[in-house]
Amino acid sequence: KWDEILQIVKTEHDLSDVSFKTWLKPLTVYQVEGNIVTIIVPSEQVGLNYISKKYKLPLQVTISEVTGMENCEINFILPEDVPKKEAAAPKVQSQDTRCEEAHLNPKYTFDTFVVGSNNKFAQAAALAVAESPGDAYNPLFIYGGAGLGKTHLMHSIAHFIIDHDENSKVLYVTSEEFTNELIETIRNGNNTAMTKFREKYRNIDVLLVDDIQFIIGKESTQEEFFHTFNSLHSAGKQIIISSDKPPKDMEILEERFRSRFEWGLIVDITLPDYETRMAILHKKEEMDGYDINEEVIKYIANNIKSNIRELEGAINKVMAFAKLEQREVNLELAEQALKDIISPNEKKVITPEYIISMVAEHFDVSVEDLYGNKRNSKIVMPRQIAMYLCREIISTPLKSIGKCLGNRDHTTIMHGIDKIEKEIVSDDNLKNTIETLKKKINPQT
Ligand code: ADP
Ligand code: MG
Repeated sequence: KWDEILQIVKTEHDLSDVSFKTWLKPLTVYQVEGNIVTIIVPSEQVGLNYISKKYKLPLQVTISEVTGMENCEINFILPEDVPKKEAAAPKVQSQDTRCEEAHLNPKYTFDTFVVGSNNKFAQAAALAVAESPGDAYNPLFIYGGAGLGKTHLMHSIAHFIIDHDENSKVLYVTSEEFTNELIETIRNGNNTAMTKFREKYRNIDVLLVDDIQFIIGKESTQEEFFHTFNSLHSAGKQIIISSDKPPKDMEILEERFRSRFEWGLIVDITLPDYETRMAILHKKEEMDGYDINEEVIKYIANNIKSNIRELEGAINKVMAFAKLEQREVNLELAEQALKDIISPNEKKVITPEYIISMVAEHFDVSVEDLYGNKRNSKIVMPRQIAMYLCREIISTPLKSIGKCLGNRDHTTIMHGIDKIEKEIVSDDNLKNTIETLKKKINPQT
């Protein structure tokens, strides 16, 4: 009825469209009590006094006419005068926002995690922690090689807790993010910034820190993490940590950390066996809606053994190749598509393609974006970092880097590398990110 009433006022008083849009349209009815109608006037758009003077009477008359209400009285209020009844109740955030705020990948849940002999102990421990945070094992320390499912399992725990307890505060960070945030805070150099940082990391119920190996040796980050750890642990808050190695093999880990990491439970994820690899490929096939020849799946499972990320990447590569060549997905096509990845009896070499894929994953962008021409900073920076790392780690010639990165010419590559080299000098965050990436790409260094 409200729209109808406004329209009548408009026609009867012969208002222009612009007056109508400016003064009447923004009004909303807050409540009707007896003969008193309370109307909210949005504060930015219109002046309450003016509206009241000019439109109160016309509105009262029309409301009475349309609704039959006697002696209608209008009470105009501003949004800030709306009684804060609803607002006072604790705001329950939607699951989605909470997942986003906790920095979680929606695909990494227990439901999509395939359990095999290589990870069943880790999965069970993770589920126990997810069911009783702070009570089961604290901290939970998960270790294993690259691409074996540590991050997936950590996100699963976080999702589970968020889904089952609407009040719990869950925070997932990589140790690189923790470091960069701390660098930023220290650079700001004031106490409020530091207080804020500490509040953020200490007023939570569950903290997950991924790839802790990257803070080893960074003095101030270690120190801060140590205090964060103690503060959370002594308050009975859950801590979950991942690393590429068990604490006892982390050479320069200080004893105080080693002992703390061993307080709870340490679990590992090892290489998946053939059955698990098959199961993971089938799960991926199902999730992506593919229907792939069983021979092809077996071929991939037989030949890619050391990294689940590569296992999944192989399917993607085969499907992309088939689409590009408009061919049927069969064994012959798979062999062709994967000839660079599957080279039997050859020890793994770091190629520009590998570096590019690691950079893409690290920044959560697609490899295609790095090849392509998008110019937003979310893509440009990672693209330049990829150029820089190809040069730095394996001394790829500029021309070849250009070829691998969507056929860019060598001056573009030179410019990109130059830019990173310059920025790295003054930007500690960038420096830390590059160091982290170098270690990810070549753990031996
Ligand atoms: P890590 O953190 O150990 O390097 P990730 O958790 O990032 O490894 O896993 C790499 C990829 O493999 C991810 O896409 C992940 O979803 C997938 N993956 C790993 N383990 C499993 C599993 N058990 N079931 C299904 N997918 C898995
Ligand atoms: Mg990971």
